[in-house]
Amino acid sequence: MRDEKNERNLKETSLINREKISRLEKGERLSKEELTALLSSYTPEDRRFAGEKARKISQSCFGNGIYIRGLLEISNICKNDCLYCGIRRSNRQAPRYRLTPQEILEGCAWGYEAGFRTFVLQGGEDPFWDDRAVEDLVKRIKARFPDCAVTLSLGEKEKETYRRWFEAGADRYLLRHETACPEHYAKLHPPELSLAHRMQCLEDLKEIGYQTGCGCMVGSPYQTAEHLAQDLLYMQDFQPQMIGIGPFIPHGQTPFKAFPPGKLEDVLFLLSLIRLMHPRVLLPATTALGTIAPDGREQGILAGANVVMPNISPEEARKKYRLYDGKIESKGEIGESLRELRESFRSIGYEMVVGRGDYPGKEGTL
Ligand code: SAH
Repeated sequence: MRDEKNERNLKETSLINREKISRLEKGERLSKEELTALLSSYTPEDRRFAGEKARKISQSCFGNGIYIRGLLEISNICKNDCLYCGIRRSNRQAPRYRLTPQEILEGCAWGYEAGFRTFVLQGGEDPFWDDRAVEDLVKRIKARFPDCAVTLSLGEKEKETYRRWFEAGADRYLLRHETACPEHYAKLHPPELSLAHRMQCLEDLKEIGYQTGCGCMVGSPYQTAEHLAQDLLYMQDFQPQMIGIGPFIPHGQTPFKAFPPGKLEDVLFLLSLIRLMHPRVLLPATTALGTIAPDGREQGILAGANVVMPNISPEEARKKYRLYDGKIESKGEIGESLRELRESFRSIGYEMVVGRGDYPGKEGTL
């Protein structure tokens, strides 16, 4: 009797969930309460339902193409102290490094040969990489590789700084908002950092003309379904060109070392919902997703992602840019791991694209 009732309830919930997923597909906006309920009650079947729709949408916008970005981790020196992050300044055990402009240019040259047409320069907030140093670097990369896009991911800066870098030729900027709830933000960051400032930076970036990316971790400490609902609504309002999400993964030398990692299913479900809500957005299957499951990135693509960002940093840097434990490492030569990645995408019916892979814009499909 009881079981029957439970089953009926489950079926009803699932019907409601699918109806919500279909509404998202039609471009409708769900309320925070509706999204919270969906995120707290979805079943594996609901996830498959959303995943199939999401995959169809990404195929209609991007065909079976997967964009690749060459990720260069230019420094792990950071003046910030984000509680989740392995390269936070309080982690005195982290061996620090900084690539030279020469090393970065060499990395780009290698990446170009391998087929990359976007270079992502990511790093901690390292004072060495000031307005002038990044400006010079971007100019040198763009002069040498004029058919390539440069994405920066160097944290929170003044609007004037962002503008200088844009004028130097930078095309895109990734700055995850991390969580759209100010109280939750305060639990993940030291008091000197605020969500309001982070969001201001995102507004500035977009206004300057960058293809702008926000995003959040899934399963970060103290996160609730309501927080994730808020994240989805923030993204819907902000309309970014890129969205980066991946699971939180603990790092042993941070205050969050004992928290569990984010769940694969949650990340996949969110990727699908994001694809439904943002048909053309550039949506990576992240390294962190590939870290919590061996085929995480492939599953991410099947859930609606259309970008991967293989690491093309020199080997020493790759080891030291440790935001979380267990980060997947491409063993041996980078070219080899790119070939493997290409093969694994082929095995699920996708092809790596050589090209800048810009945001397709509001009109038309690729
Ligand atoms: N300093 C830059 C780049 C940060 S690293 C910035 O502030 O934007 C890029 C992303 O890695 C972060 O935005 C964060 O969402 C993610 N990250 C950091 N620590 C992590 C962890 N322990 N697990 C999963 N993702 C993490």
